[in-house]
Amino acid sequence: MSEIELTGFGGRSVRINTGLFINNEFRPATGDAQLEVENPTTGARLASVSAAQKEDVDAAVAAAQTAFKGPWRAVQPAQRGRLLNKLADLIDRDADDLASLEALDAGIIFGDAKALHITQAAETLRYFAGWADKLTGQLLSIPQGYAFTRREPLGVCAAVVPWNAPLMITIWKLAPAIAAGNVLIIKTPELSPLYGQKLAELVREAGFPAGVVNILCGEGRIAGQALAEHHGVKKIAFTGSGPVGREIMRAAASSNLKKVTLELGGKGPSIVFGDADLDNALFWTVTGITANNGQVCAAGSRIYVHASIYDKFLAAFAERLNNTARAPGDPLAEGTTKGPVISRRQKEKIAEYIQDAKASGIRVVAGGGDVNSATEGHFVGTTAFGDVPDDARIMKEEIFGPVASIAKFQTEAEVIEKANATEYGLAAAVFTNDVNRAQRVSEAIESGQVTVNCWGILHANTPFGGVKQSGFGRDMGEEALDGWLTTKTVKYFTLPTADAE
Ligand code: NAD
Repeated sequence: MSEIELTGFGGRSVRINTGLFINNEFRPATGDAQLEVENPTTGARLASVSAAQKEDVDAAVAAAQTAFKGPWRAVQPAQRGRLLNKLADLIDRDADDLASLEALDAGIIFGDAKALHITQAAETLRYFAGWADKLTGQLLSIPQGYAFTRREPLGVCAAVVPWNAPLMITIWKLAPAIAAGNVLIIKTPELSPLYGQKLAELVREAGFPAGVVNILCGEGRIAGQALAEHHGVKKIAFTGSGPVGREIMRAAASSNLKKVTLELGGKGPSIVFGDADLDNALFWTVTGITANNGQVCAAGSRIYVHASIYDKFLAAFAERLNNTARAPGDPLAEGTTKGPVISRRQKEKIAEYIQDAKASGIRVVAGGGDVNSATEGHFVGTTAFGDVPDDARIMKEEIFGPVASIAKFQTEAEVIEKANATEYGLAAAVFTNDVNRAQRVSEAIESGQVTVNCWGILHANTPFGGVKQSGFGRDMGEEALDGWLTTKTVKYFTLPTADAE
């Protein structure tokens, strides 16, 4: 299969194979189907990779089934842990290559990709490596004797991943899936698939038996849907948009009732009380909407500020926002503080929200216009609106871009009601120095996670996922393992003594 060479951080040469990774080999897609990958920084074509067709998904499922019934069964749990640790070491070793690839096709700033996403992926692998030989069941007493439970792998599983932090989100699925003893097919995102091509090489180098981890790029409607509809796939873990999450549930329901977990979008509230450490609250609320250009499902895109500090907060927020947006450019270049968004479509969607809010007379606090970058490409201005009404589109809908909607509140009860007035429930942040208030508010917020005096920090040992229409199931933490295991109950009846001896 064809190899290509790309130029990464500091001019380094990054080589990847562009084929589908099935059974530890790269191969072309049926009919040699290809997907064009764009560099969002320049808008120019970057590479072509093989695009999996339905027949290729069938081949990957068959390879995974063979591995699950054969060589993988013989691999002891502790060895599964060693493989995950080895993969973590290889990811650390090649972090510059992986971060370069995410900068090239996803527009993620190199330093952020390396320090945050790649490092977090390696930590998650090591965390779940430790679980591989600790999956215990229960011993239960029943009137006739005793019972015990076994936690068993599901078999062939699939992961369908979005483009915004692709390696990290892939590892959130791969690590618990493998620790639990499953085999996996990963469908990488068509907009940023290059990390997956590199990951495939590392999977092979780490020593995973053939067929245990298969990595396919392909279009969602073809390869993703084929996985969701496949009778040989026992579980599908999805991160992405709500509409596609619903399609995956429908496909699971109309095929083999495969297990589904969904990590969908969000419209996260950040609540700043009057007693909060202002500098700290500013740092995290700005980070919450500028990190990854706001293309974060957990983005703190609704910011509620107590009336006593509202004007001061707004002025300081605008100043900091302008600073973080001051150096737009190539995410591979040192000193760049703002990269492009993923695609022209995404840029237009974000710009449309900004125009719509401006046209409705909502007050612009910072940004609101185009970005002057030295390069062509999909750059969009980091923008904050103030005094945003509860029913404004920018307050209600997920924009998935660098647009903050800020509003004033007077009381704790009022802000809790505002924070919960959304169909989403993924992440929320509370800023206060009052521990009792922090307790009350974090309990009252309808959300999968609440951070107090910070935003969005991820840890491999803490569960991450949503409530309401942000989805169900958890990535990371011990709880993630439940999504990749099934429980078998074994009952023993104690028979009466055979003779009276
Ligand atoms: P998307 O739903 O369009 O695509 C996600 C993945 O699904 C891609 O790999 C795509 O190819 C695939 N897909 C598309 N149609 C499919 C189908 N019919 N069947 C099966 N697979 C299909 O989302 P996106 O645009 O890549 O990502 C942005 C969205 O993801 C946002 O809404 C964001 O909030 C969400 N997101 C959520 C989380 C989280 O953890 N909750 C994390 C990142 C992104």
